[in-house]
Amino acid sequence: MSDYVNSLMAQLKAKHPAQPEFHQAVEEVADSLSIVLDRHPEYRTSKILERLIEPERIIIFRVPWVDDQSEININIGYRIEMNSAIGPYKGGLRFHPSVNLGILKFLAFEQVFKNSLTTLPMGGGKGGSDFDPKGKSDLKIMRFCQAFMSELFRHIGPNTDVPAGDIGVGGREIGYLFGQYKKLRNEFTGILTGKGLNWGGSLIRPEATGYGSVYFAAEMLETRNETFEGKTCLVSGSGNVAQYSVEKILELGGKVVTLSDSDGYIYDDEGFDNEKLKFIMDLKNIKRGRIKDYLEKYNNAVYTKIDSNQDFNPLWNHKADCAFPSATQNEINAKDAQNLLNNGVYVVSEGANMPTTLDAVKLFLDNKILYGPAKAANAGGVAVSGLEMSQNSMRLPWSRQEVDDRLRNIMKNIHKTCLDTADRFDTPGNYVNGANIGGFLKVADAMLDQGVV
Ligand code: NAP
Repeated sequence: MSDYVNSLMAQLKAKHPAQPEFHQAVEEVADSLSIVLDRHPEYRTSKILERLIEPERIIIFRVPWVDDQSEININIGYRIEMNSAIGPYKGGLRFHPSVNLGILKFLAFEQVFKNSLTTLPMGGGKGGSDFDPKGKSDLKIMRFCQAFMSELFRHIGPNTDVPAGDIGVGGREIGYLFGQYKKLRNEFTGILTGKGLNWGGSLIRPEATGYGSVYFAAEMLETRNETFEGKTCLVSGSGNVAQYSVEKILELGGKVVTLSDSDGYIYDDEGFDNEKLKFIMDLKNIKRGRIKDYLEKYNNAVYTKIDSNQDFNPLWNHKADCAFPSATQNEINAKDAQNLLNNGVYVVSEGANMPTTLDAVKLFLDNKILYGPAKAANAGGVAVSGLEMSQNSMRLPWSRQEVDDRLRNIMKNIHKTCLDTADRFDTPGNYVNGANIGGFLKVADAMLDQGVV
């Protein structure tokens, strides 16, 4: 690390201690940017990076709600409005008990670069709550969402801040949030993305993050004149991103042998097919069951429970060609990365945000595998959110084919931006530098143009 990055990190940690995920996200970006700041001292004198790491605004609020047993519950709500240099704040809402300020700041920071890479006019934000939707009735979820929106509504707007889903926030939650916003404001606007199709949503939005991460991997494979045909893939998670990653891998001729949730993972040696995937989608999205229930129908598969005393995740220790981490942050540590490499994996495309620790990233880069970092690889979700905003503004929906073609094209362009930028800054093939620098330049130039605000 350069002296500049060292000193920036020391100041950040002193000012905002106990936010390890945020420190990790900033360190990775700052490291990539050293060379840019050397070549362009104007960014350093204008303190662009120092400004980028302080959110423009943080909103923290109490969310009191009464459940269906008349019990009063209190959660914490957050919205981090990180950067609006190139467009309204845009980024998902996460409902999970682990949610805290540091995690949301890391997600909002990453979002700024990701949104810039899509080439669409979107700034970066993120929000959520420590509310745990798992196992709760629809009524409880609705009451919580209404209470959450009863405060959030005054801070967001179609030209100010447009939230979407993330972990624990899918179509059901977006519906309840949208309904409450509409009631409070008495207006029907594109205030959230990921909406239902018959009330302003876009075709392909549910599929977009998973499809996008597979499209990105397909682009990486193409640089070696290869395709998905016959490739074995490991996928983690079994939520929105994981499900649609599997769907697209199957369509492109690959084989997927793993899926997981926070309790454990399944390994199906024969691979999932469309019928098995349909079963998993029904299990997770309708029955809201656990991934181990897969074995009730497909008992050839093996279920392994997560052992928190283990310092590695056995899901990443199977023979394969490609890995799609699609669950959560830091799910691949250095030992997992070494296991992946030992098992022949040479393509990693990150559906989840920051799923790989810094030392694991270093291993991937040192071994020169095709490693697509989250900012680039999972940008398809927010890209189609941007397309949903365009359709809402025009009040005209596009066809499935049109949105999918645009998504494919956006992922192709992001891949090209990463490779071209990595070349331009003397680190050919390094998608991490390509994504960080490519995302940074557009935002930094906009900030220079707009003065110190
Ligand atoms: P989701 O539908 O809620 O699914 C999350 C999946 O990950 C579930 O299977 C969940 O298992 C598992 N998981 C969550 N926390 C975990 C943990 N601490 N340990 C192990 N497994 C865990 O969420 P999603 O939308 O697919 O999001 C997955 C990842 O993709 C996140 O990193 C998110 O930020 C990122 N992402 C999402 C989008 C999007 O459009 N949705 C866009 C860009 C990036 P349980 O059911 O047991 O909790």
